[in-house]
Amino acid sequence: MSVTTSTPQLSERILRMQESATIKMAQMARDLRAKGNDVISLSLGEPDFDTPDHIKAAAAQALNDGFTKYTPVPGLMELREAICTKFKRDNDLDFDVNQIVVSNGAKQSIANLCLTLLNDGDEVIIFAPYWVSYFEIVRLGGGVPVVLKSGIEQDFKVTPQQVADAITDRTKLVLFSSPCNPTGSVYTKEDLEAIVEVIRPHEQIHVISDEIYEYINFTGKHVSIGAMPGMRDRTITVNGFSKGFAMTGWRLGYIGAPTWIAKACAKMQGQFTSGATAFGQKAAAHALLSDMTPTYEMREAFLKRRELVKEGLGAIPGFKINNPQGAFYIFPDISAYFGTSDGTNTINNANDFAEYLLMNAHVAIVSGSAFGADNCFRLSYAASEEQLTEAIRRIAECVGKLK
Ligand code: PMP
Ligand code: GLU
Repeated sequence: MSVTTSTPQLSERILRMQESATIKMAQMARDLRAKGNDVISLSLGEPDFDTPDHIKAAAAQALNDGFTKYTPVPGLMELREAICTKFKRDNDLDFDVNQIVVSNGAKQSIANLCLTLLNDGDEVIIFAPYWVSYFEIVRLGGGVPVVLKSGIEQDFKVTPQQVADAITDRTKLVLFSSPCNPTGSVYTKEDLEAIVEVIRPHEQIHVISDEIYEYINFTGKHVSIGAMPGMRDRTITVNGFSKGFAMTGWRLGYIGAPTWIAKACAKMQGQFTSGATAFGQKAAAHALLSDMTPTYEMREAFLKRRELVKEGLGAIPGFKINNPQGAFYIFPDISAYFGTSDGTNTINNANDFAEYLLMNAHVAIVSGSAFGADNCFRLSYAASEEQLTEAIRRIAECVGKLK
C-alpha cells in the first residue's frame, strides 16, 4: 500500500481517484470571491433558478405530516409509482415499482450501478466528452474506462462505427448522457437507432443512459434509448430532479432498470446510505405529477441564454462553437490559442486557459480535459443574462491579449 507522509493510511482507492473538476473549480471561484474579487462562476452545472414554490410547499407539508423517518431503501411507494407514470408518459418506458430505485442524486444512482455491475477489468465504453464523474466512478467499481473521443467536427457525438470498433468480449457497459454534459449535444432518434444496431447483437452489454437533462432539450421530444426495440432489458435509464426541477440541493435521483439490477442497487444502497430524504421524496412525487409549466419556463430561459452565449463567444476570434441542442452548457474549442501568451502567461492547453481566465478575467469555467476533451472548455450558462454578458465581455478582453 502506498503511504506518503502527507496522506498516511489513505487507501490506494482514494489516492488513485481524481477530485471532481467541476466541484474543485466552483470552490476555487468561491475562495477567490471570499478574498473580495468579483468572480463570475460559470463552472458548476446548476440551475440558477430556485425550486418551484409548489414543490417546496409539498416538502413543507410532508414535514408537517411527519415524513421524517427512514423510507424503504428504493424509495417511498408513492414516489416509485409516480416515476413509473413519468417513464410511461414521457419516455414510453414500462417499469413496475420493483424496477425503480430512488437515490441521493443521480450521482449515487450511477455509483450504485457501477459498484453493482462491474468486476475488475470489465470494460465500460464512455462517450466523450463525458461528465467528469463517469470516469472515476467506473474506476472505483474496478472497471476500465474505454473512452471514445468526439470533437466539434462531429458535433461532439460518437459514431456507431466508433462503438463497433471499441467493443470487445470484456465490454460490459456503455455509458453516456443525452442531452450531454458537457457539450449540450443531443443524440437524435436516428443516432440512437444506429448505435442500438451495433450494441444489440452483444448480449453481455448493458447501456446506462443518463437522461438527467431530459427536460432541457431544445430539439423537441426527448428520445430514450431504453424504449427502442430489444433495449428494454438491456438499458438502465438514469434521471433525477436536480436539473429539470432546479432541485440540486435536494439530492434526489433515480433509475428504471431490469428487476435484477434494481434489486442489486437497492442492496448496495442499503449498506451505504439507505433511502433518500423522506419529505424530499414526497415533494418529488408531487413534482413529477403536477404542472410542468415552471420547468418549461426554465427551458425557455436557457434557450434565450444559449443564443446569447453562442453569439457572444462565437464572435471571439479563434473560438469554434457548435450549436448545443440541450442542457445548459457550451463547449468552445479554443485550441487556436494553444502556444499563445499575454507576455506573462503562456497557454499550452485547456487547463492553462481555464486558469488564465479565472485569474485574469475572474470568470470561472472548467477545462475540457476534465471531460476527456483537451481542446475545449465548458461554460455553464445557468446564470443571469447580465452575468453572462459581463463574463463574455471579460473573456473577450482577456483573450484579446493572447498573441
Ligand atoms: N449526470 C449528469 C450528466 C450530470 O450533469 C449530473 C450533475 N450533477 C449528474 C448526473 C448528477 O446529478 P445529481 O447527483 O445532482 O442528481
Ligand atoms: N453535474 C454538475 C456539473 O457537471 C454539478 C457538479 C457535479 O456534480 O459534478 O457541474
